[in-house]
Amino acid sequence: MDFTLPADVEAIRLRLRRFVDERIIPCEADPASYDAHENIAPALLARLREQARQEGLWALQMKRHRGGGGLSMAGMAACYEEMNRSIFGPVVFNSAAPDDGNMMVLEKIGTEAQKAQWLQPIIDGAVQSAFAMTEPDGCGSDPALTYTTARRTNAGWVIQGRKWFITGAETAKHFILIARTSEDARRGLTAFLFHADQPGWRIVRRIPIMGPEEHGGHCELAFEGLEIPDENRLMEVGDGLKLTQIRLGPARLTHCMRWLGLAKRCMEIALDHAGRRQAFGATLIEHESVQTLIGQAGMDIQIGRLLTMNAAWKLDQGDFARNEVSMAKVVVADALHRAADTALQLLGARGYAKDTPVEWIYRYARQARLVDGASEVHRMVLAGAMRRQGLDFWSWGDGH
Ligand SMILES: Cc1cc2nc3c(=O)[nH]c(=O)nc-3n(C[C@H](O)[C@H](O)[C@H](O)COP(=O)(O)OP(=O)(O)OC[C@H]3O[C@@H](n4cnc5c(N)ncnc54)[C@H](O)[C@@H]3O)c2cc1C
Repeated sequence: MDFTLPADVEAIRLRLRRFVDERIIPCEADPASYDAHENIAPALLARLREQARQEGLWALQMKRHRGGGGLSMAGMAACYEEMNRSIFGPVVFNSAAPDDGNMMVLEKIGTEAQKAQWLQPIIDGAVQSAFAMTEPDGCGSDPALTYTTARRTNAGWVIQGRKWFITGAETAKHFILIARTSEDARRGLTAFLFHADQPGWRIVRRIPIMGPEEHGGHCELAFEGLEIPDENRLMEVGDGLKLTQIRLGPARLTHCMRWLGLAKRCMEIALDHAGRRQAFGATLIEHESVQTLIGQAGMDIQIGRLLTMNAAWKLDQGDFARNEVSMAKVVVADALHRAADTALQLLGARGYAKDTPVEWIYRYARQARLVDGASEVHRMVLAGAMRRQGLDFWSWGDGH
């Protein structure tokens, strides 16, 4: 078994590390680098995005002929981790959620005309995108509860309903929307595209949250007669759940890749501090109980990396890797929590201050156990797979 990265991926990974170290991390300490919602300020983002583009570190997950870097999922696993050693990293390289997941699903299932109109501007960084599925008291962990409807008309579809927690909605232009088109249990949902400038929908509110926000926030949306032409339907009528599964597999995994970067950064900060800070006649790192905390967090991160890389490898083989993605999602979300909590604890009061990114990461991390499937739901899915697959649940690549 060979865990060596291909030479071209390793070269990109090292260039990303240098870019993050030299250009992005130094910006984190300056309050002027932040917007009102604790994310990178637009002017600084535009400047860094231009530099990333010039250095060929742009949209690395996308195909080369569309202006991307052509990375495999395994290549992305190595590179996204490097990007998110800075809290600002992924968005600088156009690899942040939800654009990242939206680009990947549109590349997979869009028609050529849809890709030209809806995908290419996201890759180019000309527009932001959003994915609208979750509803207040409706679709959440269970998509069967979806109540937002798409009613067929002569011209296309009319949408009525409500969505919430839609990341980026305040500034996004291109939306993917999941709506109910029939009561069929498996084929009752359909996916559509719409543009922010179309009438018939509105933002009810930008939901205040505990953590720092993505650009465009997390919004509640009302649909009051939005008209969508049939050419802006994605896949076939009734394929909404299928599209969601195609999107969420890789999108969950890229969350893991990024979270591992944040977790590693926490440990970098913790180790640096623990190696210098004196207490009771020794540096913190010399105390055995501190070593236990650090060793555990480091081990959790490595377990998460192996699960993530294994799932990425399976996705690269054309497998949906459902079990592997679920396992990685649960374990990495917990690893991120442990790393942020360990770092904060070892930093003492400094960790509770905004003087290091640990406080930012700690608040951000809480969403990891909820978004893209709560940990309990992933465990439920895994239990179901174990009952169906028996010993094959633990198969190697060839299914044995
Ligand atoms: C920061 C953030 C960004 C988000 N961005 C988007 C977005 O861009 N687009 C979008 O569509 N949605 C988005 N979401 C919504 C997210 O995907 C949902 O929150 C998630 O799917 C859970 O749904 P819910 O909140 O309705 O929780 P519920 O379905 O109400 O579940 C609540 C809790 O119940 C428990 N639970 C549920 N089912 C089971 C079960 N079978 N077994 C045991 N326990 C269970 C879990 O603990 C779960 O956390 C975002 C959420 C957050 C917090």
